[in-house]
Amino acid sequence: MRKPILIGNWKMNKTRDEALQYVYAVNEELISNANVDVVICAPAIVLRDLVKRADFKIGAQNMHYAESGAFTGEISPSMLASTGVKYVIVGHSERRQMFNETNESVNKKMRAAFSANLTPILCVGETLAEQEAGLKEQVLKFQIISALIGVSKEDLLNSIIAYEPVWAIGTGKTASTELADKTCGFIRHEIESLFDAEAANNIRIIYGGSATTQNIGDLIKQENIDGALVGGSSLSPASFVEMASIISSTIKKA
Ligand code: 13P
Repeated sequence: MRKPILIGNWKMNKTRDEALQYVYAVNEELISNANVDVVICAPAIVLRDLVKRADFKIGAQNMHYAESGAFTGEISPSMLASTGVKYVIVGHSERRQMFNETNESVNKKMRAAFSANLTPILCVGETLAEQEAGLKEQVLKFQIISALIGVSKEDLLNSIIAYEPVWAIGTGKTASTELADKTCGFIRHEIESLFDAEAANNIRIIYGGSATTQNIGDLIKQENIDGALVGGSSLSPASFVEMASIISSTIKKA
């Protein structure tokens, strides 16, 4: 049985004071529940502060793959690990589109994350143009295969895959639950081809793209969806906590 996970991605939001207030609010409202893992991926500058105070897990949104060196402004995997974070988002579409993240650098970051004992949250997803050209499955397959070059099954099972259709991010357009489930199922099938049925049955695959308190209940019921990666709706402690409680009280389709 795969344990559901709710991951908030604040993106470039919240000052230090706002971040701390948020954590105190969530600490108070979050009913500690063994049914769902809860993570907030925050800007690097507040990670250590949040790790020290949060009653839930904290993750980063990005990192460099190199261990150290002349990479002005970058943060290495071991630097992140030294703050106490356990998770790191790798290959978010905003980084692929705006910061020259490539399938090759995503692969290097995946391997670097495992070396630093971090759990990577690997983001994959097609753009609207790719979807309209009928290239969705090809794009996803290529993103997955290239991200996982040189990754062992043991490491794979220490990662999370987030399917985030680019056209659904921040647009209010969610993929229909059926489409989201079907696509997460396609990704699971690819994992079976690359590894085996055990890997496919155990890897957590989550959905991201305009997930809210309104649609999370339906999304989480789906067979292949093990949680959500949430941007906008993670910014308010109340809606984030509500999403966690909806997930923990939803019974999955058999
Ligand atoms: P939204 O939930 O704001 O659509 O963002 C999704 C996302 O990109 C999470 O990583």
